[in-house]
Amino acid sequence: MAPPQRRDITGPARVRFAPSPTGNLHVGSARTALFNWLVARNTGGTFILRLEDTDRERSTPESEAQILRAMAWLGLDWDEGPFRQSERDEVYRDAIERLKASGAVYAAWETDEEMEAQRVAARADKRAPVVRGRRDWTAEDIARFEAEGRRPAWRFAVETDGRTVIDDYVRGDVAFEHTSIEDFIVARSDGTPTYNLAAAVDDLEMGITHVVRGEDHISNTPKQMMVIRALGGTPPEYAHIPLILGPDKKRLSKRHGAASVEDLQAAGFIPSAVINALALLGWSFDDKTTMFTVPELVERFSVSRISKSPAVFDLKKLQVINGRYLRMMDDATFTEALLEHLTRTGYITTPEQTDLAARVAPSVKRKLSTLDEFDVLAGWLFRPLTMDPEAWEQLTGDVRHSIQVVGAGLGRLETLDDWSVDAIKAALSDQLHILGEDARGFLEPQRVAITGQRVSTGIYESMVLLGRDETLARLRDALAKLAEIWVA
Ligand code: GLU
Repeated sequence: MAPPQRRDITGPARVRFAPSPTGNLHVGSARTALFNWLVARNTGGTFILRLEDTDRERSTPESEAQILRAMAWLGLDWDEGPFRQSERDEVYRDAIERLKASGAVYAAWETDEEMEAQRVAARADKRAPVVRGRRDWTAEDIARFEAEGRRPAWRFAVETDGRTVIDDYVRGDVAFEHTSIEDFIVARSDGTPTYNLAAAVDDLEMGITHVVRGEDHISNTPKQMMVIRALGGTPPEYAHIPLILGPDKKRLSKRHGAASVEDLQAAGFIPSAVINALALLGWSFDDKTTMFTVPELVERFSVSRISKSPAVFDLKKLQVINGRYLRMMDDATFTEALLEHLTRTGYITTPEQTDLAARVAPSVKRKLSTLDEFDVLAGWLFRPLTMDPEAWEQLTGDVRHSIQVVGAGLGRLETLDDWSVDAIKAALSDQLHILGEDARGFLEPQRVAITGQRVSTGIYESMVLLGRDETLARLRDALAKLAEIWVA
């Protein structure tokens, strides 16, 4: 029998991205933001940004600003918000009052120690540590607690039988037995709402039709559905998207290299490549397509093709994708992206450096996988000559040969009037044929002599960028040093 066809989200969806502003936008959250954005754009719906900043100690304005900046860089524009839970206290207090009035929640007078004792006892009995507060306090008990200055927290009265089923777009039916769900707290004793209360109330109040979020939230879902139902609402539909692992199959973290969007930006990745790679974290269009423009993603994205199995984020794959995107750019666009990156990171600061970087750009475009690698290839142009010892060894390994080819190159270039890429190329090709050398054997020593490195910008371009006088000076200098070694 064919497996049941999975559903797609249809109709204009109201979706939300609800990060907690307690750090940078990491790859996992960015993927969640992207999937929600794609659902909104693909269905002609609405993308809502909601900052879940109820953890007053860990939430910071800097983190909020970083998240917004990272989303703007990725091009994930939102239609409503940003809303901040810290500014919606009244909405939650009102909901809590309604839950109290309907008896959906009850006052929990127990201290934390008393509740912990319940958990310990349950574990000792080999029962699930599902805590429930007492609901049969007498008027005297309560009067005594109040006299002691105790303030109750408020717990949701979870039914003791039955189950709550999530009809999940990705995971199918996921059932939670009510006996396994504790009477979770909705309001702390100081009156502040908990995450589950605030998220549920917001999803209801904001008319969210679909919640697309990480699988790590799945055990919160039945609780949020209960709160929404107790408030007389209908829960949204849910799509829980798979975890993201590193190539070592461990949960993605800093250890795996760039873990936040900010890191990726700093390392010289471009937004379109990052979006492309994020889209493939748990989603695929078919078995073969790996390159998608943003409009293609908007058109092709569907939750029915989100995988249940964990996704793997591999920085190396992202580098490959990024390199392809850079090569696809025309020279002007590439130059603009490169200059923006080098300026933002403080690599170039003067008009002269900017001008030089702009002149180098076209010759490195095909060789980079990230903009940051510019330094490896072209950094030598921005510094006085420093000879890489390994590169120099390559020259001194066969001194006689090096003297011969560098000497031949120098001799021919000294007579050259037209200092252009084409003229230099033609001149050096002549010499190479006369000597019966292969291109590598002939050109590598020249490269080392003028750049100090074994990898660089193209050799002819390098000579043009460096200029006639400086190129000839460096070749003469290398030749003199090689000659010293030869006679010694
Ligand atoms: N604020 C939660 C988080 O950052 C997201 C909760 C949700 O999407 O419902 O993990």
